[in-house]
Amino acid sequence: MNYVETAKDKVKIYWQQVEKTVKYNQAKVLKAFQKAEVGSHCFTDSTGYGYHDLGRDCLEKVFALVFNTEAALVRPQIVSGTHAINLCLSILKPGEQLLSLSGTPYDTLQQVIGTRGNSVNSLIKRGIVYRELPLNDENRLDYDSIRNMINDKTKMVMIQRSPGYSWRPAISIDEIEEAFSIVKTVNPNCICFVDNCYGEFVENREPSEVGANLTAGSLIKNPGGGLAPSGGYIVGDQDLIEQCGEYLTAPGVGIQIGPTFNMVRPLLHGFFIAPHIVGQALRGAILASQVFMDLGYRVLPLPSHPRTDIIQAIELGEKEKILIFCREIQKASPVDSIYTPIPDQMPGYDDEIIMAGGTFIQGSSIELTADAPLRKPYIVYLQGGMGIEHIEIALEAVIQAL
Ligand SMILES: *Cc1c(COP(=O)(O)O)cnc(C)c1O
Repeated sequence: MNYVETAKDKVKIYWQQVEKTVKYNQAKVLKAFQKAEVGSHCFTDSTGYGYHDLGRDCLEKVFALVFNTEAALVRPQIVSGTHAINLCLSILKPGEQLLSLSGTPYDTLQQVIGTRGNSVNSLIKRGIVYRELPLNDENRLDYDSIRNMINDKTKMVMIQRSPGYSWRPAISIDEIEEAFSIVKTVNPNCICFVDNCYGEFVENREPSEVGANLTAGSLIKNPGGGLAPSGGYIVGDQDLIEQCGEYLTAPGVGIQIGPTFNMVRPLLHGFFIAPHIVGQALRGAILASQVFMDLGYRVLPLPSHPRTDIIQAIELGEKEKILIFCREIQKASPVDSIYTPIPDQMPGYDDEIIMAGGTFIQGSSIELTADAPLRKPYIVYLQGGMGIEHIEIALEAVIQAL
């Protein structure tokens, strides 16, 4: 019996919603390319300081149009999502208060903030006051507590849209909108920030369209469309983007320098196909959810549940099954299929992590990948996939092996 084919029949109805979102976002992106007047003159090389880099300016204009913001910082010099988020948090000054509205942040960010590890450069070591509001009993934003905890000293609030390595639903755009409207009612000057990793193009609106002053993410996830060789982005208010730029380069020069090393074309190309690629990944996530639910595993989200990120969590319950799952995803990859992933320590993480990723771009998780921290109850996180057919083939192999 082919479990994947059986599941596919069941999820076709959920895939229809994905199709609609993809088409909506594709039109939005296309319009931005046209409005920004993207042309072959943008695909130039830039070197050295990168002064007057037409391509870079055009790329950033496209991002600002799509995310509906005053400005954008889209650079190969931003190494990762963590780096982009760190730049946003860097604008906080000693004594200012940062409040996380979505509980404990992603593993690598805990070291940025300073709740874990002992970097002398963490926010806390630099004198920023950090507080964390846990999610409520249903693992949702706690609107009442948000209202109570915000005061005129709260300089910035942050929401992490995707759960990272935790078993909770991702936070939808509607929920982000509600939270930020409460924040702005109490303190209109508070900077609303969203870690948008894995969320781009999953819904019709982005956090920047519902009150976020700053939104950041990685180009080797959704918005790179699998073609971006590296990079990160920040979109938001002009003055805040300029400040982030000063931490990326130097005070004074800020966003005005930064060569793009022939990367504008793949970055634009990837961004253009990103809505479609995100749609493929979403189809795969829904299919995996259905097939593993049918096999009796706990899954999050459920196949029928509306999505706001591309991650599919599957509780396998046993370490051995995690290893098998990741081994098969690796074996079904187009690159590095001969290697076997093994759990190990990773910079920025406490638990041992196993990561399966036979990807063209190192660490790219918009390509089909699976990873898991080796801790109970042994949950594997599956994401990405640039074509549904490849995802189906990989899922068939995983199920066969399990
Ligand atoms: C991936 C991710 C990040 C950043 O990770 P990088 O590996 O540094 O790009 C931050 N937050 C969340 C929720 C993520 O999924």
